[in-house]
Amino acid sequence: MTLPGMRSAALMISVGVCWAREGRAAGLQPDSSSPLTAEQNKHMHLERRVLVSGGAGFLGSHLCERLLAEGCQVLCVDNFFTGTRRNIEHLIPERNFELLRHDICQPLYVEVDEIYNLACPASPIHYQRDPVKTTKTSFMGALNMLGLAKRVDAKVFQASTSEVYGDPSVHPQPEEYWGNVNPIGPRSCYDEGKRAAETLFFDYRRQHNVAIKVARIFNTYGPRMHPNDGRVVSNFIVQALTNRPITMFGEGQQTRSFCYVDDLVDGFIRLVASPHEVTGPINLGNPGEFTMIELANKIIELTNSRSEIVFLPLPQDDPRQRQPDISKAKETLGWEPKVALHEGLERTIAYFDGMIAEGLVQKVMEPT
Ligand code: NAD
Ligand code: UDP
Repeated sequence: MTLPGMRSAALMISVGVCWAREGRAAGLQPDSSSPLTAEQNKHMHLERRVLVSGGAGFLGSHLCERLLAEGCQVLCVDNFFTGTRRNIEHLIPERNFELLRHDICQPLYVEVDEIYNLACPASPIHYQRDPVKTTKTSFMGALNMLGLAKRVDAKVFQASTSEVYGDPSVHPQPEEYWGNVNPIGPRSCYDEGKRAAETLFFDYRRQHNVAIKVARIFNTYGPRMHPNDGRVVSNFIVQALTNRPITMFGEGQQTRSFCYVDDLVDGFIRLVASPHEVTGPINLGNPGEFTMIELANKIIELTNSRSEIVFLPLPQDDPRQRQPDISKAKETLGWEPKVALHEGLERTIAYFDGMIAEGLVQKVMEPT
């Protein structure tokens, strides 16, 4: 007697054998989990299947939103180290949204067409809390995402950082600049972790022809930044809205360039949609450069705050200046930021104002 399941198993085997023979002859390699080639597997799906690691974080949650709006199936993978369910709870009812609690230091077996690797704590306070884990996440997370990309023949995007330039001696920073990074300081777990991840990405490309897309992200801000992660924009806004002292590290003459989150996410999407030969690394950031004093004064003005600026010691290895050279992004992706600092700050201030009104900022600032 032949059961229906047995018949379909026999059919699978014969299709598999057939593909193994004919596919190989045609230069098409079946992947290990399917008798079909990865290319054929992709064509079985109407929507692009996209994995976003770190999808419950600040940038990841905006990216998930954007991908859903484009009609993709989104698999958000996060271990909730710095991300929160609150960032993505509005997406949970969406048919095309799936959430998986998972640590990317462990291998992951899923079938996807594109991978955005964002999982990694990003603010100095967060990444220095468990520096060994930060390096592990940067390196092993990249290794696992690249291994997955290789197996399923997916494009893989890496959220690298301007920190790979360290405290730069070239200004503004073009992608060709190799950087000035302290390998043994308190920021090194992040800076060197991200540098090692870039190395892995480019070796997977050279060795296995994986479709890599590496973006070097400069300081980005916007709604859903963590109110207590010590980053300058969220710190100053929360301090100004609550009329508490603005904590200025050093004399406030160090510079940063701030990109609004929507502009950045648009750069991600364009980079991943670019042709196979475009690998990056490519700078994504807003070239508008401000000193921290200028930033504080802007925020005080926009919030009508009574806060005063207090000067505190500058943290070790704090870069003195940072400004992206975005010629490559302009030329290759036709991308440049559109949102001016005051406009982005207004939207971010409105977000934190709402959080304060709901008592959510107080909750994370003064845990009971
Ligand atoms: P974030 O801390 O808000 O988000 C990171 C997310 O990754 C969080 O949801 C966190 O829970 C998750 N995560 C951390 N370790 C993980 C692990 N081992 N497994 C699974 N999930 C893990 O930070 P962000 O600002 O959204 O940054 C996202 C990415 O962009 C990071 O890789 C960061 O290095 C990079 N980046 C951000 C900026 C910026 O200005 N925001 C600048 C440069 C680079
Ligand atoms: N900074 C500050 N006060 C704060 C937080 C940060 O003066 O309360 C400074 C910090 O020393 C750095 C700049 O603001 O020079 C940007 O800091 P952030 O942590 O946001 O980003 P990164 O240093 O990683 O670029």
